[in-house]
Amino acid sequence: MNELLREMEGYAALHHVPIINERGRQAFLQVVREAKPHRVLEIGTAIGYSSLLMAQNGADDIEITTLELSDERIRTAQGYIDRSAYAGRIRIMGGDAAENLLTLQHTEQKYDFVFIDAAKGQYVDYFHKIQPLLTEDAVILADNVLFRGYVKGDVETPRRFKTIVKRLREYIELVSQPPFVTEILENGDGLAVTRRVNR
Ligand code: SAH
Ligand code: MG
Repeated sequence: MNELLREMEGYAALHHVPIINERGRQAFLQVVREAKPHRVLEIGTAIGYSSLLMAQNGADDIEITTLELSDERIRTAQGYIDRSAYAGRIRIMGGDAAENLLTLQHTEQKYDFVFIDAAKGQYVDYFHKIQPLLTEDAVILADNVLFRGYVKGDVETPRRFKTIVKRLREYIELVSQPPFVTEILENGDGLAVTRRVNR
C-alpha cells in the first residue's frame, strides 16, 4: 500500500494533480484517525490518493463514495484503487459534483465524514447540498480554504483568483457560525474542520 501511495505521489507530481500536499497530509491524517469514519463522502477524487488515505485510516468497515468530473482522472483513480486493498470499499461517481449531491439526496445513505476538495468556488454550494446527507455527529473537512495565503489577506490576491478567494472567505464565514463550529488548521493549504454544535 505504501509503495502504491508513493507511486501515486510521483504520478501527481509529474502530471500536476493537486493531491493533498505533504504539509497538509499529517493534519489530514490526524483528523481522519480521530474521526475514524464509517461512511465517507468525498467531493473531488482526482487520482484516488486521499480516498486511499481515508480508507487506510478510517474504521475497518469504511465505505467511501467519491465524486469526480474528469473521465481521465476517474480512469486513473480506478486503476490505483483496483490495485489497493480497498477496491470494494471505494465507489467513484462520475459527473458534476453539485448534480451528484442532488442525486445522493434521493438515497437513504448518511455520511459521518465529508471531505470537500473539488471546485474551490463551489464550497458554499457543496456545504448546503450535503446538509441532508449528514449524520448528527458528522465531521466536514474542507481542503485549500486558505488558498496560497490569499484568503487571510496577507498576500495580495492576483486578479484571476479574486472570485475564488472571496468565495472561500464566504465558506469560512458560513461554517464559523451556529449551528457549526470550525477549526482552521493552517498546515498545507489550510484545512477547515467543521462540526455541528449540539443544541
Ligand atoms: N482529493 C484529492 C484531490 C482533488 S483535486 C486528493 O487530495 O488526493 C480536485 C478535483 O476536483 C480534480 O480532480 C477536479 O477534476 C475535480 N473537480 C473539479 N470540479 C469538479 C466538479 N464540478 N465536480 C466534480 N469534480 C470536480
Ligand atoms: Mg486539495
